[in-house]
Amino acid sequence: MRDETPNSWEARADAASFYGFTDLPSVRDRGTVVLTHGEGPYVFDVHGRRYLDANSGLWNMVAGFDHPGLAAAAKAQYDRFPGYHAFFGRMSDQTVMLSEKLIEVSPFEGGKVFYTNSGSEANDTMVKMLWFLAQSEGQPERRKILTRKNAYHGVTAVSASMTGKPYNSVFGLPLDGFIHLTCPHYWREGRPSESEAAFTARMGIELEETIAREGADTIAGFFAEPVMGAGGVIPPSAGYFQTVVPILKKYGIPLISDEVICGFGRTGHRWGCEAYEFMPDAIISSKNLTCGYFPMGAVILGPELTDRLQAASDAIEEFPHGFTASGHPVGCAVALKAIEVLLEGTTGAPPLIENVNALTPAFEAGLARLANHPHIGEARGKGLMGALEAVKDKSNKTPFDSHLSVSERIANTCTDHGLICRPLGQAVVLCPAFIMTEAEIAEMFEKLETALNAVF
Ligand code: PLP
Repeated sequence: MRDETPNSWEARADAASFYGFTDLPSVRDRGTVVLTHGEGPYVFDVHGRRYLDANSGLWNMVAGFDHPGLAAAAKAQYDRFPGYHAFFGRMSDQTVMLSEKLIEVSPFEGGKVFYTNSGSEANDTMVKMLWFLAQSEGQPERRKILTRKNAYHGVTAVSASMTGKPYNSVFGLPLDGFIHLTCPHYWREGRPSESEAAFTARMGIELEETIAREGADTIAGFFAEPVMGAGGVIPPSAGYFQTVVPILKKYGIPLISDEVICGFGRTGHRWGCEAYEFMPDAIISSKNLTCGYFPMGAVILGPELTDRLQAASDAIEEFPHGFTASGHPVGCAVALKAIEVLLEGTTGAPPLIENVNALTPAFEAGLARLANHPHIGEARGKGLMGALEAVKDKSNKTPFDSHLSVSERIANTCTDHGLICRPLGQAVVLCPAFIMTEAEIAEMFEKLETALNAVF
């Protein structure tokens, strides 16, 4: 697999790139896959090999790698006005139009939008907004942030502190005041003979006890992904949000829905909060916001937080926060096109969210088929996001020892068969592009099955 010639792409990648989020032993053995271009949901490497990308880039290239409308929207805006910020009393016309559109397609009746370059920055910004409110509303001790174990909210110091993954301990994170509740994964976290309803009730009790222990007036907000993505595609236990939302309301704790993955159709609904029928106080967006054609994130504030933040900003005549490229006009033009492509449809092409719903039965059937494998303990998912959890012993859910990297071996074998999918913990995650056909969904599961049979 690895090209060992001295000046190979693999050697050059190793020589000059410091790898993040990469299994270094695998790369050492196999070499980095250096990519040159894509067609639809496929990508091609420097050796001309073709891979079906069941990862959609990183959940985001949902309209494929060569969408003409998105590239054209970017080109037209680069030609017209290639860049600007959204501060000091100036912003681009594209930024104005995107904010209006985002509020229109959000679940909120009114609200406002703040732009960032990434999902991590959007979460960071939201935390700063909550801290700003606490300071300005005379409750400076209201700083703690509640999230869940296994949650993924990003990599900046604050969003990594919100992320409930043990690997952040290598940075000495989380920072103080970031509290991680139990992951609402019934299959893994449910106690023997505990019903799903009892498990969900226990999640509510834990939340309420945590609020009581910490003090409600010390908690700035609760952040949750509707379906945990990088935690391994974990849909909440039944009734989870219906249990926690009233508790948060009772104590006046804002609920932030991190929709960086779920937003814009991944679950088959516009928003994950719509899929699970709850109303957050704000939404964090990125990834599908531009279908991956421009780095961009957004905080979409519901009406109540908008009013409070506006009042707090008016009082000091400024909200002192923002990034050089916040509200970049090319990003906004791409996002306007992405919303059309995903949710509204373009001339001659129905909205891609319809294809998500059309493909979901085949996707679910593929997951269910592979769940019969003797080493697949759970197949789970929602819409076009799914995971297969590998276990040593299916009868009692005993996991493989983590050092065996079973999911890494499955994913590497998939790569050898021309399929890119992602190992996460002991699970293999699938998040296909919304443009896939049923034949491509079938190809994805066939290749994955071949890899499973090769590894076990
Ligand atoms: N929030 C969620 C739910 C995510 O899945 C991610 C990235 O995968 C982020 C936040 C961070 O986004 P970014 O990688 O753009 O900083």
